[in-house]
Amino acid sequence: MQVVRPLGTLGTSPCFRNGVLSGDGQETVIVARTRAELASGLETVRGRGSVGLVPTMGSLHEGHLSLVDAARAAAEATVVSIFVNPLQFGPAEDFASYPRDEARDVDLLRERGADLVFVPSVEEMYPEGEPVVTVDPGPLAETLCGPFRPGHFRGVLTVVARLFGLVRPDLAVFGRKDFQQSVLIRRMVGDLEMGIEVRTAPIVREADGLALSSRNRYLSEVERAQAPVIHGALARIREMAAAGERSASVLLSKVHEMIESKSLMDIQYTQIVEPDSLRPVDRVESGAVAAVAAFCGGTRLIDNTVLE
Ligand code: AMP
Repeated sequence: MQVVRPLGTLGTSPCFRNGVLSGDGQETVIVARTRAELASGLETVRGRGSVGLVPTMGSLHEGHLSLVDAARAAAEATVVSIFVNPLQFGPAEDFASYPRDEARDVDLLRERGADLVFVPSVEEMYPEGEPVVTVDPGPLAETLCGPFRPGHFRGVLTVVARLFGLVRPDLAVFGRKDFQQSVLIRRMVGDLEMGIEVRTAPIVREADGLALSSRNRYLSEVERAQAPVIHGALARIREMAAAGERSASVLLSKVHEMIESKSLMDIQYTQIVEPDSLRPVDRVESGAVAAVAAFCGGTRLIDNTVLE
């Protein structure tokens, strides 16, 4: 592995040498940018036992780091990928402006005990350009976020399948925050017999309930103050469902009423679906998932909750 970044941006400690970032104590993380470096890093960490993979787009927060904790608890070696995947962004979306802060991300991962970070460029990930054969997400992408983000889930599944091929992990951890994505990945791994254990970790939130997201940094102060209403509305209908309300339309009206009471919020969709088929339900049974996508100013936020 080569020297990939001078000390500069990281201060005097930790120290980056030969593709390995070391901290004050014993903790180090291998940083691989190329497929060859990844292969060599994997050879090193695989000696420890099973490998857990956490795919991310970087700009890391506690939500991502909780996935690293979950992977570390379940596998002997933890690999994290940081790759802003152009295939999953629509032409009008924020691929170019998506926040990137690699030096900070790598340092956070080192502190959190990740063993290997894979940070490929677009050219390294897709050396032959856009893949010709891609993963078709099928009908599970025709609901919730799917219709509003054409091609998004095909892009997600294709890059995750490619990462699975490159890393060959024993298990992979995804966040429940991206509920539809986690269902699709589980389904892909099952339907294509990929032989990888998929784990889903709970949503990590700010103290006021807003689900952590790399895109939260786009929010202005006023928008940030209104954004927790999404979680507030979901928490309210969770209580209503727990108290016996079974009508999806009654519950969804409450979500609309609460979110629309905030001037900067603009709902894209609200739905209550079966947790595996993602089919909308009329009568809510235990385990149904209520999901929301809404714009807060110009920022699209998603959140969901299980109705017990
Ligand atoms: P992203 O970098 O947005 O592609 O997310 C990478 C992984 O982190 C995905 O599996 C997300 O579901 C997960 N994730 C993002 N935000 C959260 C959160 N607030 N809580 C838990 N997991 C999260």
